[in-house]
Amino acid sequence: MSTSLLYHAFGIRGYKYARTQYENGQVIFTIRQEPETHRCSCCGSNRVISRGRVDRCFRSLPIGSRATSVAFAVPRVECQACGLVRQVDISFADPRRSYTKFFERYALELLRSMTIEDVARHLNVGWDLSRAKAGW
Ligand SMILES: [Zn+2]
Repeated sequence: MSTSLLYHAFGIRGYKYARTQYENGQVIFTIRQEPETHRCSCCGSNRVISRGRVDRCFRSLPIGSRATSVAFAVPRVECQACGLVRQVDISFADPRRSYTKFFERYALELLRSMTIEDVARHLNVGWDLSRAKAGW
């Protein structure tokens, strides 16, 4: 894996590839974001001070039948412009979701020609996720 492949194949742009782990049959890519690219998610200012990180994991596109996830410690920053303390924006996923935008798009593509049960089984996801997709 490389930063370039993360971008072109997995839709993860603006982050650095850190490492790959293999756990329970799943491939986990850890990425990080350079401090100079941190911005306030409220006003967009770059005048921010680090206030820790929040570990998150996002389901990502499978490689064949093997599930992958992206592990990312989301930077938390204090903004010197607007005073808020927040997590920075994540470009590759809706912050309220536990999967990437590319994963979501892939699931929607599969649902055009497969049943919800098939998609859930192939992607190894719970019913809640596939039901949410079906409703869209
Ligand atoms: Zn701000």
